[in-house]
Amino acid sequence: MVNPVSRIMVDFQQMKTFAEDPFIIERAEDIYLYDDHGKQYIDGLSGVFVVSVGHSNSTVLETIVDQMQRLTFSPPLASANIPAMKLAERICELTPPDFNVVKFASGGSEAIETALKMALQYHNQTGHPEKYKIIATYGSYHGGTLGALSASGVSARRTHFEPLIGMLHVHPPIFNRCPLQLAAGQCATSCVLQFEEVIQREDPETVAAVLVEPVMNVEGLIIPPRSYFEMLRNICDKYNVLLIYDEVITGFGRTGTMFFAEQAGAWPDMLCTGKGMSGGYAPLAATIVADKVSKAFWGEAEDKVQFNAGDTFAGNPLACATGLAVLDYFEQHQLLDHVAQIGPYLASKLRALKDEFSTIVDVRGLGLWWGVEFENDNPAGKSHDDIGRRLERAARQRGLVVRGAPTMISVAPPLTITESQVDDLVGRLTLAIRDMV
Ligand code: PLP
Repeated sequence: MVNPVSRIMVDFQQMKTFAEDPFIIERAEDIYLYDDHGKQYIDGLSGVFVVSVGHSNSTVLETIVDQMQRLTFSPPLASANIPAMKLAERICELTPPDFNVVKFASGGSEAIETALKMALQYHNQTGHPEKYKIIATYGSYHGGTLGALSASGVSARRTHFEPLIGMLHVHPPIFNRCPLQLAAGQCATSCVLQFEEVIQREDPETVAAVLVEPVMNVEGLIIPPRSYFEMLRNICDKYNVLLIYDEVITGFGRTGTMFFAEQAGAWPDMLCTGKGMSGGYAPLAATIVADKVSKAFWGEAEDKVQFNAGDTFAGNPLACATGLAVLDYFEQHQLLDHVAQIGPYLASKLRALKDEFSTIVDVRGLGLWWGVEFENDNPAGKSHDDIGRRLERAARQRGLVVRGAPTMISVAPPLTITESQVDDLVGRLTLAIRDMV
């Protein structure tokens, strides 16, 4: 008989290995997951930075059921719908006054594709059709579709599909392991100046947009200083290059503010969101567009300046009603205030682990997204089984789901997590680390 798990093509993992020891989630509630054997886990990663308002959230569920009885689909080519209009308005209220247009999508990759295509069409329609080059950073991940993957700078995820669409990459500000051994501030400055260097060398008249993940995930929770974004904003303005933020992880409260742009000190021209936007209750993402860009797409029918792209499930009423319910929950439960209290509490608990485990070299993060970095026990990269992956497995044994990267584990629980649940999470993590050392 065929093992039913082996019919699922799992993401990024070897199917055979997964099928031999599958992790099958049967149900979930609050911050807890339950597997098909009834074992309970703390969802220490909110699915994958998605489940912002917890699992089985009754406010969200009630809204979804209500919307299901009204309208579940409206064709995006020929119509708008009430939840989409309301959600677009709410999102625009959360961003500066010059953000007034939202292009919905059903996943982060789609939102990135939208921003890339919109940047190209924008320059076409504003007298610069020769501006087509995109600059992103090494170490970034922007999604699995070919455009978003081409912009991504993680070689492990790119190589199987190369050559991709030609895009340019500069170094990310990895100040904790700067190849030039620069101090943190200097490292960020040197990295941001690379954008200007590349724009100049490529010819500014050919460069359309810069795309950055304002807090980098795969690269190891890298938070550049405000000066990085302020300089980047100035460089983009100087050369008429659009600035795009990938806030697919950082958006919707994960970093303590609704969008990380609020902390960056500089807003982009387009801001892409996804993941936590629907809390995982529906596939939902969006590209939020500043007037500077959107006005190039507003005209008479004969001007033919409409955005020439679309997605069947964009602005789906069920997904948008879900997004509204998530925002309602944020407001009703003052979730951002809660993150402002519970985030530092989680951080202090994780930092305390350093007293027991000398192999922890850093604990960094913001909001409810924290990373614990360990000494590199595999410096030559010879083993595939580095400390992060081993700890991810050990944590799973102890009933905790976290994400392991080569030398790091990321902890990003639902934004609803309470103090006693944080204690429980860190307790399980402590046991997992002890199991390994
Ligand atoms: N951008 C970032 C920063 C991401 O982490 C991801 C996915 O992990 C994406 C974009 C792509 O989003 P999706 O997988 O929803 O298409």
